[in-house]
Formats: sequence, C-alpha cells, structure tokens
Amino acid sequence: MENSSNFIKSIIKEDLEKGKHKEIITRFPPEPNGYLHIGHAKSIVINFGLADEFNGKTNLRFDDTNPLKEDQEYVDAIKEDVKWLGFEWEELRFASDYFDEMYDRAVLLIKKGLAYVDDLSADEIREYRGTLTEPGKESPYRNRSVEENLDLFERMRKGEFENGQKVLRAKIDMSSPNINLRDPVIYRVSHATHHNTGDKWCIYPMYAFAHPLEDAIEGVTHSLCTVEFEDQRPLYNWVVEKCEMESTPQQIEFGRLNVTNTVMSKRKLKQLVDEGFVDGWDDPRMPTISGLRRKGYTPEAIREFVKETGVSKGSGAVDEAMLEHFVREDLKLKSPRTMGVLKPLKVVITNYPEGQVEMLDAEINPENPEMGTRQIPFSREIYIEQDDFMEDPPKKYFRLFPGNEVRLKHAYFIKCEDFIKDENGNVVEIHCTYDPETKSGTGFTGRKVKGTLHWVEATQAVPAEFRLYEPLILDADENKEKEETSEEKTFLDYVNENSLQVVQGFIEPNMKNVKPHDKFQFFRHGYFNVDPKHTTFEKPVFNLIVSLKSSFKL
Ligand code: ATP
Ligand code: MG
Ligand code: MG
Repeated sequence: MENSSNFIKSIIKEDLEKGKHKEIITRFPPEPNGYLHIGHAKSIVINFGLADEFNGKTNLRFDDTNPLKEDQEYVDAIKEDVKWLGFEWEELRFASDYFDEMYDRAVLLIKKGLAYVDDLSADEIREYRGTLTEPGKESPYRNRSVEENLDLFERMRKGEFENGQKVLRAKIDMSSPNINLRDPVIYRVSHATHHNTGDKWCIYPMYAFAHPLEDAIEGVTHSLCTVEFEDQRPLYNWVVEKCEMESTPQQIEFGRLNVTNTVMSKRKLKQLVDEGFVDGWDDPRMPTISGLRRKGYTPEAIREFVKETGVSKGSGAVDEAMLEHFVREDLKLKSPRTMGVLKPLKVVITNYPEGQVEMLDAEINPENPEMGTRQIPFSREIYIEQDDFMEDPPKKYFRLFPGNEVRLKHAYFIKCEDFIKDENGNVVEIHCTYDPETKSGTGFTGRKVKGTLHWVEATQAVPAEFRLYEPLILDADENKEKEETSEEKTFLDYVNENSLQVVQGFIEPNMKNVKPHDKFQFFRHGYFNVDPKHTTFEKPVFNLIVSLKSSFKL
C-alpha cells in the first residue's frame, strides 16, 4: 500500500531493520460464522499485502472457537473469496486444531496460580466486574487452591457440568482500570458439536485467550486487527507472557472499513439473509465479497478501492460512490460495449423496405480500438427505450417526439412522424422515417441532431432480463446510530424496499451466447454482469454493476 499513513508498514520495516524478526508472518483470522464482506477485504489486503511486500508469509486461519455459530459452508465460502480476491495463503489453519495445546496452557496458568474455576453465573460475573468508575469485586471462588482448580477444570473437560455452571477465569486484577483485565473468562462449558472437532470437546476457549495463543503457536510476528481490540492488547500480551509462549506476536490495530448505504457486520448480514430481505449471502445488493462478485465487481476494483482507503486508526464511513468509481475504472477498457433496451417501445421505420435486413459495423470499445468491431442487424422494426419518446416533451428534451429527428447509434437518423396509443392511452408504437444518406460511418455532415439513442433490431432481438439495484439500506450512517439507541427501530426498518427492480428487455443477437460473469457496458445505461444464478439457456439475466455517470471525484 502506497498510502503514507501506513504506520504498520513503518513498524514492520523497523522491526526487520533492527533484526527483531528475520521474516514477517501475518494471518487473516476470520470466524467462520458468515460470509466475508468488503470490510474483511481491507484486512485481507493489509495482511497479505504487507507480507508480500516484505517477502513474508500469511496464514489463513479460521478462528473457530465458538461451535454454535460456525459452519463448514462458511469455511468453504471464505476460502473461495480469499482466492478470488487474488491472494494465496501460506498455510491453512484452524484454531480448533490447537485445542489440546490451549488446554495445556490453561492448566499451566492454573498451576502458576494464575487461573481459577469460578461458579458464579454469567450475570453475577458481569455484576462483580464493576464499571469504568467502580472497581470490580472478587469472586468468592477466586482463592480456590491449585489442586481444587486442576480437579474442577479436568471435570469441566470431562463433561461433568452443565453449560454456564462453571468457567475458568484468568486471575489478574479486579481493580484494574482496564476492565478486560478484571479476571476475564478464558474457558466456558458448551455442550455443542464442533464443525471440526465434533464432540471431542465440551469446553471451549474464549476469543481473548485463544487468539494470542493461535498467533504465538503459528509464529505470527504482527497480529493486525481492528481498533475495537485496542483495549484487549494488555490482555493479549498477558496471555502470551504467562502461558510462556516461545514466540511473542505484536498486536497492532487499524481502523475498520465502513461504507455508506450498507451494514457491515456478519450478524446483521445474516439477519438479512435469514429473514428473506435478500436472495442469500451472495445477493448482489449485499456488501459481501460474494455479493459484489455476483453483481459484477472485479477483484482488481475491490483491491484498488481498499488500498485507496488507506491504513489509519480512524474508521469513518467511505462513500459508496468511491467503491463504484473503482469498478468503473477497471471495466472501462476491458468490457465490450453493446446495446440493450430495458423497457422496450416498438418503432416502425415506414420507408425502410419490408423484409430487408442489413448488417452494420459497430466498434466494440471506442476507448480500446484493439477490441475490434461487431456486426448488428438493422431493419424496418426496432426497439427503443420507452423513456426515449415523449408526446409532449419539455424544453431541452432532445430525444424522439413528433416531428423531431434523432440519431440511432451505429445506424441512421430517424424522424418521428406518428405514434399509436392503446385503449389506456399508453404509447405502444412509433412510426418514423429514416434518411439513407445519414448512415453512420459515411461521413454525413448535411445536418446535425442533438439526440443519440440506443436501439435493438426487433426480429432478431434476444429477450433478456435486467436487474437494477439501489442501496440496500437507506441513509445507513444516521440510522445505524439510531439503532443502538432506539428501542423501536433496528437497521431492518431502514431496508430500502425498492432496492431491486427487475425489467424484461432485449439485447443484440450477437449476445445470445453470453456466459455467467461476462461483463458489458450497455450504451447509455452502465456496466452489467451476466448473473450466474438466474441466467438460463433461453434467457440471460444481467445485473447492473454500476451506472455510467457519477459526480464522485478522487
Ligand atoms: P463482523 O463484525 O463483521 O462480524 P468480525 O470482526 O467479527 O466482523 P472476523 O471474522 O472476526 O469478523 O474478522 C476477521 C478479520 O477481519 C479480523 O481481523 C477483523 O478485525 C477484520 N475485519 C472485520 N471487519 C472489518 C472491517 N469492517 N474493516 C477492516 N477489517 C475488518
Ligand atoms: Mg470476530
Ligand atoms: Mg463480529
């Protein structure tokens, strides 16, 4: 990352120069309790990016210490997404593979008088913990003997206790100003089947205990995490030291990435999926990596976006328009141009010979001439966009209206002579004449027109579905705040009911055989991706990736 605010890079550089490490090792440690989102992409780019830059290594490690929320489906999806983003991990690890070692380290703490089994309930523990202004109170079980603690912990492991009946706590300092150090719980009883270890365990380590051990076991040198873990750093260091880990990883925090008009938390995203607001984790409206992929984002666009947001401690929300800017930039030269009519209106060109079809040459990408040309048919009947005709146009409307002449992209000038309405008063057909002199590419300069329309020849037009997206959450930033404070409203109350619009239109016949994930720029509309889920042999389905215009400036 080139960003000058990359303070992590400076730390690593110094560590290497001073010989603190020979090689750096980072890790990306997702919990497999949901799909990855664009926020995770930031962590991925930072961890893998820094290791690459300094010839180090990055492990993909599943932080799977909570069996109730984790699932193999998520493990598979996360692996796919990391690879798709363009990164290769050194080793694939599971925190659950270290359960034996973690247990042994917990026993070591007990033997050193640094951990005890507590019988207080979760509520009592919270109550005893105190507040920022009030010191905590010691549990009556805090001074159990080492022997008793060893015996009870062993019995916890054997399954003699119910969930919540006993926990293992680190014995640190109940009056510490840092609440995380007031004897944090490090092991709990949970009679649950684990996706990796099955029923081998009925006690599981807590994140704050497990994470530093995982890092140390793997020899991670720089443990990069988001700022909400800053207050946990003293506990992180305590665990590494007191458990006598050979390697001492350094935790460094950076700001979370947030993006406007969406939510960025697996819990909330799961709720949107479970309650049917969207069509799965990979719904194109989701800020997940799989959703962005299905919408048509490229790994390059996501990586460049994340890099541009930089590495700092701040976590302000980044404008969604910036994300869109990067996919537009990436697709500009790569994607073929084509024409598609989303809301068709028939046009009959009355002076064009009946039964005749001519083929016209059209460039595939004017900004990238190497992409060559395509052929498109033209005949007496075409479709244009409903919006491109008005019976009574306002001033400065340069498209079709009675008596007006426009240019058809790659074809001829046509002039509106007449139109037909149905019994409800809707315009259903336009009658035009064309001027053969005005053929595109012939250098006609006789007169000028102000409007240029896209169109599709009617007899060979291929039916296609277009899915147009708007933000999933309206005005999300303000509303996310409210959600925490207001009892009546949650972020679900701000879900945009019009976030998906499905329309049936037509595309050029040369588009008949498009494949999932092919990307195009539809003239005047924007960039679209062939949807991998809904596309059928008969009918391609196109997802709107991003419209053409934006006021966004970098
Ligand atoms: P969420 O709160 O969205 O569920 P999480 O932090 O619980 O995310 P993890 O699976 O624990 O999700 O995250 C794996 C890594 O990704 C962690 O190191 C975490 O700090 C990082 N990460 C998660 N969300 C973001 C974000 N919005 N910006 C940057 N990094 C993130
Ligand atoms: Mg987490
Ligand atoms: Mg979370």
